[in-house]
Amino acid sequence: MANGTKIAVLGTGIMGAAMARNLLSDGMEVRAWNRSREKAEPLAQDGAKVADNPADAARDADFLLTMLSDADVIEEAVGGDVLPMLAEDRVWLQMSTVGEEGNGRLSEMAAEHGVPYVDAPVLGTKQPAEQGQLVVLASGPEEVRERSERVFDAVGSKTVWLGEAGEGSRLKLVINNWIVGLLGVLAETVAFAKSIGIDPAAFLETIEGGPLGLPYAQLKGNMMIEEDFPTSFSARLARKDAGLVLGAAEAYDLRMPVAEAVAARFDEAIQAGHGEEDMAAVYRAASPEGG
Ligand code: NAP
Repeated sequence: MANGTKIAVLGTGIMGAAMARNLLSDGMEVRAWNRSREKAEPLAQDGAKVADNPADAARDADFLLTMLSDADVIEEAVGGDVLPMLAEDRVWLQMSTVGEEGNGRLSEMAAEHGVPYVDAPVLGTKQPAEQGQLVVLASGPEEVRERSERVFDAVGSKTVWLGEAGEGSRLKLVINNWIVGLLGVLAETVAFAKSIGIDPAAFLETIEGGPLGLPYAQLKGNMMIEEDFPTSFSARLARKDAGLVLGAAEAYDLRMPVAEAVAARFDEAIQAGHGEEDMAAVYRAASPEGG
């Protein structure tokens, strides 16, 4: 049932499409735009209006929600005449992963147009997005927090409010460094087990249920063992996030050789043609059989 809230969703990829469906289920009027229109069109069956361009999606919307791959893409999509199209009492919820520098550019763009801006990257992948179980790492002005929660509650199970816009993106970088690093060492561990004649399934079974047996390691480790990588989060975007971490580390004069090595592994997997597979496909670069 419509509740009168209008929201423009720019980007209906793996995450954006799932989030748009949950916003529709919550009763919002969703205007969806995607560069490849065919990925937005199925949302029409759920009640979304599919827009021809970002400005049409944004017309009179109470919220602008961006879920695009990176800051350059968002700058291009939102630049020009999009922000002035929004309703008077509007908020931009920037939920893509753009890192600190990208967040700075986008929040400046919002400020130039006087649009309140909430930096709100998410923790969780395809399935949590489909189930409305994302964790939102939100930061931004106090006066729009309550209103923004209307949207965050529809797409997530928990919102963590931090300080000024940018803190959410910085926390997201910290978490993604952990995730990307874990995937890199997991890939090498599975490859190492195979090379020395240990069944990698025995490794996962042995650690399962104990402090070392992260459910995430079980999930991604089994994908590596089966060499089947249906995409929840692409290797290409995981490499983008590794780059955002390294860029931020450089800006703060911190050396991160482990993160650099893992990023290089992702580069190898992507160069071998596995960028659109799940991030667990970093295993392709580590595998003793090669990618
Ligand atoms: P995705 O499925 O690859 O979707 C990417 C979106 O960006 C699509 O709408 C795509 O349009 C658009 N895009 C890419 N390049 C473009 C360009 N040059 N011009 C216009 N549009 C462009 O990615 P996703 O997994 O939904 O991720 C979206 C964001 O959420 C990213 O910042 C990602 O890091 C972040 N994130 C993802 C996950 C996850 O597990 N998947 C989790 C947390 C955060 P087309 O369809 O036309 O290519």
